Amino acid sequence: MADPREREKLLRFAPPGPLLGILRTLRERGHEAWLVGGAVRDLLRGETPAEYDVATSARPEEVATLFERVVETGLAHGTVTVVEEGLACELTTYRAGRAYAAEGGGFVSTIEEDLAMRDFTVNAMAFDPLDGRFLDPHGGVADLEAKCIRAVGDAAARFEEDPLRPMRAARFAARFGFRIERATRRAMPRFVERFRGVAAERIGAELEKILVSPHPRYGIEILRRTGYLSVFLPELLEGLGLRQNRWHRYDVYHHVLRALDAAAPDLVVRLAVLLHDIDKPRTVAPSAKRPGENTFYGHEVSGAARAKEICRRLRFSGRIAEEVGLLVREHQFAYTEEWKDAAVRRMLARVGPSFERLLQVRRADILGHGRNVEEGLENLRALENRARALMAEKPALQIRDLAVDGRDVMRVLGIGPSPEVGRVLKELLDAVLEDPRRNQRETLLERLAERR
Ligand code: ATP
Ligand code: MG
Repeated sequence: MADPREREKLLRFAPPGPLLGILRTLRERGHEAWLVGGAVRDLLRGETPAEYDVATSARPEEVATLFERVVETGLAHGTVTVVEEGLACELTTYRAGRAYAAEGGGFVSTIEEDLAMRDFTVNAMAFDPLDGRFLDPHGGVADLEAKCIRAVGDAAARFEEDPLRPMRAARFAARFGFRIERATRRAMPRFVERFRGVAAERIGAELEKILVSPHPRYGIEILRRTGYLSVFLPELLEGLGLRQNRWHRYDVYHHVLRALDAAAPDLVVRLAVLLHDIDKPRTVAPSAKRPGENTFYGHEVSGAARAKEICRRLRFSGRIAEEVGLLVREHQFAYTEEWKDAAVRRMLARVGPSFERLLQVRRADILGHGRNVEEGLENLRALENRARALMAEKPALQIRDLAVDGRDVMRVLGIGPSPEVGRVLKELLDAVLEDPRRNQRETLLERLAERR
């Protein structure tokens, strides 16, 4: 059943000590334990698995008692995370198809049954590093070679059990650059309505993996063509066919997707790129000066708020939502040499530690224009150099960098703690951003004294 060459490849794998320990412990208690899913797939692809999935015949309650450091990640679904010597392993009791969906489900009794319940053939192989056994009952090796994502068994039946699976198909296609096998692909559009009922955090987690994959545009395009994008990100579709202006070669939607592929695979950067023009459809107006062209004034301002809202809706953390909002808010700058040093410093002050990411977002944006790219990149480099030179002077960019503090403000102005103190400090900072030489204690105290 299993290709001997592939078995060889697996046998060369030296399992990390803690993983061996976990497998042995389960075995000693009379249970079966197999390395399964993504870990086996990654090993066959010659990659080191990011995490190890173990399927076992032991019940979750028992697994929890066998190991010292367990995190009961999804006890209801039969999943327990065991942390041994810093290595996290996901231990999952052999489970039935519905057990993957949010509503939970029952357990099954053999590894073969468990594999039959997994989503795609490339994810449905099992390897036993203790005895060197390898199971590939659904042709996962052949599909890895053919670069193909294929549902295990009948695609429609599998999607029916868990309507997140079509999105997972797009995720694996985007990650590996695989095509989706025809019958699997054809079954996808039929479950869009059922997909509406999938928990937002499950959708967000898949979107995250598509975004940080090598081919995010491809993944998103699959989801658009099969109807899924309209469920979790309808705003993006409004940019489809929306013409721009002489700076752009593509409509808003295709521009965003090209920018996405051009961006570094960092979640925050890619999310910001995905959402950077999200409000163009709502701010579009015909250009007064150039017939046939469109303007999008203020799209970055309202877009920032919408981007944050979308991040929250998809259950990204508050920290991520805030940073994405900031990057969207700031993405639309047109740097020229005429900018005053103060303007560059004010930008650095607004953006703070997100400056590197802002450059990455802008770079991707420029690459996605498909026009005047070289010019845009050169301009961005000029801003970057200028910013670095200014940063080297270590200017005060935040209130805490000022040569005076809130106590000074209260003492000199004779006021108590109040929002006024913050406002005054903010004004001092503005003055210092304008001219850093003002950040002397004496100078600032004098300015304060003048306000009395
Ligand atoms: P990654 O490297 O991104 O973690 P993975 O293949 O390990 O990829 P997971 O979501 O961690 O993906 O799932 C682990 C394994 O569990 C999968 O390889 C698959 O066999 C199975 N699996 C996970 N979710 C589902 C699902 N919704 N339906 C069926 N099988 C699933
Ligand atoms: Mg995994």
